[in-house]
Amino acid sequence: MTLPQEFTKYTSNLFGAARWERFVQSFLHETPVSVRLNPWKADGNIFPQAEPVPWCRQGFWLTERPHFTGDPLFHAGVYYVQEAASLFLDYILRQVVTSPVSALDLCAAPGGKSTLMRAALPEGAMLVSNEIDRRRANILLENILKQGHPGVLVTHNAPKDFARTNLIFDVILADAPCSGEGLFRRDPAAVQEWSPQNVRFCAERQRQILRDIWPCLKGGGLLIYSTCTFNTHENEENVRWIAEELGADILSVPVLPEWQITGSLLTDWHQPVYRFIPGTTRSEGLFMAILRKREGKNAFSTLPSSLRVQVKKYPFLHLLSDGLPQPETKGREQIPSAAQALSLSMREADFPRAELSLEDALRYLHREGLVLPGGTPRGFVLVTYQGRPLGFVKNLGDRANNLYPKHWAIRHL
Ligand code: SAM
Repeated sequence: MTLPQEFTKYTSNLFGAARWERFVQSFLHETPVSVRLNPWKADGNIFPQAEPVPWCRQGFWLTERPHFTGDPLFHAGVYYVQEAASLFLDYILRQVVTSPVSALDLCAAPGGKSTLMRAALPEGAMLVSNEIDRRRANILLENILKQGHPGVLVTHNAPKDFARTNLIFDVILADAPCSGEGLFRRDPAAVQEWSPQNVRFCAERQRQILRDIWPCLKGGGLLIYSTCTFNTHENEENVRWIAEELGADILSVPVLPEWQITGSLLTDWHQPVYRFIPGTTRSEGLFMAILRKREGKNAFSTLPSSLRVQVKKYPFLHLLSDGLPQPETKGREQIPSAAQALSLSMREADFPRAELSLEDALRYLHREGLVLPGGTPRGFVLVTYQGRPLGFVKNLGDRANNLYPKHWAIRHL
C-alpha cells in the first residue's frame, strides 16, 4: 500500500525511525482479530483457543478470523468483534469510575465503545449512547439492542442538542470523528480520504464537538477523549486545548510496560496520554486521554436512576430506545419484538422456548419459515441457539412464521 507522502513525512518524524519502521512493517501482517465477550450472555468456552487481551477483562485475540455472520451467537449479542486498542477503555473505566454514574457516549456508532462502556461501568450506572448520523444510529441501535442491557438509552442527536437540556453527566466519552490514520492498515479507503486539509478540518470539528458538549459535563466529572488517528493536531494539541481553554486536569492510569503503549509525542508536552501504534502495540491505531473537568458550575449530575425519565422530558432528543423494549402492536395483536427477546430483562417464564440446531438458527436469521418439533406450544415462541435467545416465531403447528426483523436479517447464507 502506498501511503500519502505528506503523511509519511510528518508521521515518520513524529514516531522516530524505529517506531516508524515497525509501523511500516506492520502492513505486511494481517490485522489481529479480537472480540469482547458480553459478560451477561457469554461463558468462558466460546473461543477456547483465544488469548486474553491484558487490558480488558472480556477481551480476546483469536487465532484466525471466523465467519462471524455464520455464527448465531454473534447475532445473539454474546460477543462483539472489537479492535484490541478500543478495549483499553475497559481498563480506563475500571480505574477511574467506581460508583454508579450517568454517562454519555457522544459519538457512539457502530457501538463498540458503548457496549463496552455499559459492561465496564458499575451496576446501577446508566448510559446515553448517541449518534448524529441517522443511518449509523440505526446500526448503533441494532448493536445496543443485541447486547441487551436495559441500562442503555439510544439517541440520535447533534452534540449541541444536549446543551439545550439540563442533563449533566458524570462521564462523557467523545470518540471523535477523525482523519483515521490509525485505520490505514485495515481500511484502504481511510488512506484515500486522508489529506492535510482533512486533518485540519477534523481537528477543528473535534473542538466544536467538545465546546458543544462541555456544559453537560459535571464539574469534577470525567471526559474521555479518543481518536483513531496519530497526528498531534487532533490528539495532544486538542487535549492541551481542553485542559487550558475549557478547564480540566489530565489524569493518568498505571499501564504495564509490556503493553507497549506510547505516550505524548509532543516534544514540549509530557502529559499522560495513551497512543496505540500498529507494529509497536498489538492493535490498530488509537489515541486516548482522560480529563477531569475543574470544579465550578454544574456540581450535580443527573441521577442515573432518573436519567430515563429526564431524557424523555426533551422532545428534541430523538430517543431510539429507552432500554426497555416493548411488543409491537399490529391491529389488536401485541407482537413480541426481537429486541425484547435479546434484552437481558427478558424473563425465563415469559414465553415458551424452542432450541434450534445451527442449521435452523441460520435459516431463522435468514428469515426463513421453520417447523418446530411436535409438542411445541402454538403462538409466540422464543427461539434459542445454545440456550441464547435469537428472536421470536409464531408457531402455527405445521409451520412457524418468522418474526426476525427484516433489516437485521442475514442476506446470504
Ligand atoms: N465510538 C464508536 C465505536 O466505538 O463504535 C466509533 C465512533 S466514530 C470514531 C465517530 C462517530 O462520530 C461516527 O459515528 C460519526 O458519524 C460521528 N460524527 C460525525 N460528525 C459528528 C459531529 N459533528 N458530532 C458528533 N458526532 C459526529
